[in-house]
Amino acid sequence: MKQFDVIVVGGGPAGASCAVWLKNMGHKPCIVERRSALGGLENDNPYVNDLIVPLTNWRGEEIAAGIHDNVLGRGIFCLLNTAVESVRQSAEAFVVNEGLPSALSARYLVLASGVRPADGGLLPGSRVLIGPGAPVEEVDFRSLSVAVLGGGDNAFENYHIIKAKQASEVRIFARTIKAAHRFRDPTPVSDVHVGPYEVDTTAMTVSGQPFDLIVVLYGWAPAIDFAHGLGVERDPRGFVVTDPATTETSVRNVFAIGEVAHRMHPCSVTAMADGVVAGREIQQRLDARAKETYLALARQGERNRKPCNEKDHGESY
Ligand SMILES: Cc1cc2nc3c(=O)[nH]c(=O)nc-3n(C[C@H](O)[C@H](O)[C@H](O)COP(=O)(O)OP(=O)(O)OC[C@H]3O[C@@H](n4cnc5c(N)ncnc54)[C@H](O)[C@@H]3O)c2cc1C
Repeated sequence: MKQFDVIVVGGGPAGASCAVWLKNMGHKPCIVERRSALGGLENDNPYVNDLIVPLTNWRGEEIAAGIHDNVLGRGIFCLLNTAVESVRQSAEAFVVNEGLPSALSARYLVLASGVRPADGGLLPGSRVLIGPGAPVEEVDFRSLSVAVLGGGDNAFENYHIIKAKQASEVRIFARTIKAAHRFRDPTPVSDVHVGPYEVDTTAMTVSGQPFDLIVVLYGWAPAIDFAHGLGVERDPRGFVVTDPATTETSVRNVFAIGEVAHRMHPCSVTAMADGVVAGREIQQRLDARAKETYLALARQGERNRKPCNEKDHGESY
C-alpha cells in the first residue's frame, strides 16, 4: 500500500490548492480523483469565469486545464480515474480503498470531493438533463419546448441561456423562488409556475403539460457518500461541518474544504482559499511531529556521547 503524508479526495480547485501548498512546504500529498482530469466542476463550466480577479476571459474549462497542468507539473502524485469508495481510520492513519489496487494510507485526510447536481430522484437521460453548464450547453434547443425545474439562480439563468438558443417555449417550475433579482427580474412571470408540481419523465410532462426536454436545476448536494464510516458531523443539508479557523472536521486529522463543506460562499476562489487553510494547518502538525522526532534523536545522541566523553576525561586526568 502506498503511504503519503496527506490523502486529498478530489482534485477540484480546493483539493488541488491544498496539495500544491503542501507540496510547496516540503510534504508528500496525494490526490485521488474520480475524473480523468483535475479541475473539478470547472471542467463542466463552458462559460467565462471572470470572478477570479487576475484572470480575464478564461473559460471554466481552461481554468480546469490550468489546475491539471500545474498540479502534475509539480510532480504531485495523482490517482486519476479513481473514486474513493471507502475510508477506514486506524490508530495512526487513514486507509482509503482498502483491499483495492488503489489502496493508500496517510496520517491526514482532506475531503475535497465537492458537490454533484441534486437530481430530486430523477434519472438523467437523452430528454432529462441534470445540472447546469456542459449538460445544457451541449444541446441544440432550437424549436424544442423545455421545462426548467428549480427556483434558484441556476434555473433562472439557464432559462435565459435556453431561450437564447431558440427554444420554442421555456417554462420554469419552482416550488419557491430563491433566485437573485438579476436573474429573476428579467424573466417574464408568464413563464414561471410557482407552487407544487408533478413530474413524469416517462410521459415527459410537468403538471400534465408535455415538454420535449426537462432540465433539472435543483442546486447541489455534497459528494460525501464514501466517508459515511468516518462519522464526521454534517449540517442539516448534509454538508460537512468544520472548524472555521482550521477546516478540521469533528474527526481529528480529517479536514473538509471547498464546496463539500460549504462554509463560505461557494465558488472557485473560496474553494482554493480553503485549500490553503487546510494545507497550512496540516503543515504545522507535520512540522511539530518532525521537530519532536528531531529533538528525541538529538537527546538520544547526547546520551550516547556522554559515557565516552566521561571516560576520555578520566584518562586525561
Ligand atoms: C456551469 C458552472 C459555472 C460555474 N461558474 C463559476 C464562476 O463563474 N465562478 C466561480 O468561482 N465558480 C463557478 N462555478 C463553481 C466552481 O466550479 C466550484 O465552486 C468549484 O469548482 C468548487 O471547487 P471544489 O474543489 O470544492 O469542488 P469540485 O470542483 O466539485 O471538485 C471536487 C472533485 O472531487 C471529485 N470527487 C468527488 N467524489 C469523489 C470520490 N469519491 N473519489 C474521488 N474523487 C471524487 C470530483 O470528481 C471533483 O473533481 C461554476 C460551476 C459550474 C458547474
